[in-house]
Amino acid sequence: MSLKEKRIYIAGSSGMVGGAISRHLRDAGYRNLILPSSTELDLIDQVAVKRFFSEQKPEIVILAAAKVGGILANNQFRAEFLYNNLMIEANVIHEAFANDVEKLIFLGSSCIYPKLAPQPIIEEYLLSGQLEPTNEPYAIAKIAGIKLCESYFRQYGANFYSVMPTNLYGPNDNFDLATSHVIPALIRKFHQAKLEGASEVTVWGTGSPLREFLFVEDLAEAIVILMENTDAEAIYGQGISHVNIGCGNDISIGKLAKLIGEIVGFEGGIKFDATKPDGTPRKLLDVTRLTEMGWTATTSVEYGLRQTYDWFLKHSA
Ligand code: GDP
Repeated sequence: MSLKEKRIYIAGSSGMVGGAISRHLRDAGYRNLILPSSTELDLIDQVAVKRFFSEQKPEIVILAAAKVGGILANNQFRAEFLYNNLMIEANVIHEAFANDVEKLIFLGSSCIYPKLAPQPIIEEYLLSGQLEPTNEPYAIAKIAGIKLCESYFRQYGANFYSVMPTNLYGPNDNFDLATSHVIPALIRKFHQAKLEGASEVTVWGTGSPLREFLFVEDLAEAIVILMENTDAEAIYGQGISHVNIGCGNDISIGKLAKLIGEIVGFEGGIKFDATKPDGTPRKLLDVTRLTEMGWTATTSVEYGLRQTYDWFLKHSA
């Protein structure tokens, strides 16, 4: 049977990341996508996940479902970030194993790495130091997911592996100021300030942290290429447990804010609120391995931000 006929379950297809992956697969000619909504299938419910796998019998699983949020939400809802993500991973990865899924790709996040990891961050730096406290529960859950995939491979030979995307943004992002990541938050803040004729916009922290941002459409392209060409053996055989997915360059939050202000057309000033946390000082992934596997990011941050602002204007403004 050709890969295009396989039954592919994308967990989290109603979210920004799972939605982009589903669109890319459909555009590439994949015909048997299984895309239950979160109301149809609650991934925290072990019995429901068990039933879903035995009824639907997916052959490939992309695990892009997670409870996610920005720096304040991560810090505030610590128990939910840990519990929900552990349950989702344990339920989906175990049932994929129990139902003989041929390949599973688990999506984590670059916050799994130590707060003060040398930069750019290579895959081997996992578990080499203390985590950033603001997102430690989320990171611990994601590390558990990596280790679940690795352990099912090592114990049973399951073709399960993990990818660690850097900070993502794009259409369908969460633009809620209390829970969002920095890009959607700043798009909303600058847009509102422009409408209200405000003189300045408040940006959290000092503006000095550096972050790498990957457009979600680029991520989806990378996942499809990995799904088509890379098996677990190729990852674990290199002595690593996962592959980084990033664009290879970063930008300070101060510069990012200025750029978003220009794209939105806000003419006032920027004020930094240092009472809000900066989080990790820098988070830039080394993407040598991904490049060797045949993929590099192509979307510039300016283009990606314009696309995201256009989507916001149409759907969320
Ligand atoms: P992080 O990468 O886990 O720290 O997640 P975020 O995307 O939430 O934050 C990235 C950086 O942007 C942090 O240093 C934040 O303090 C900073 N930042 C500045 N303004 C905002 C804002 O309005 N919302 C968010 N979420 N972060 C902001």
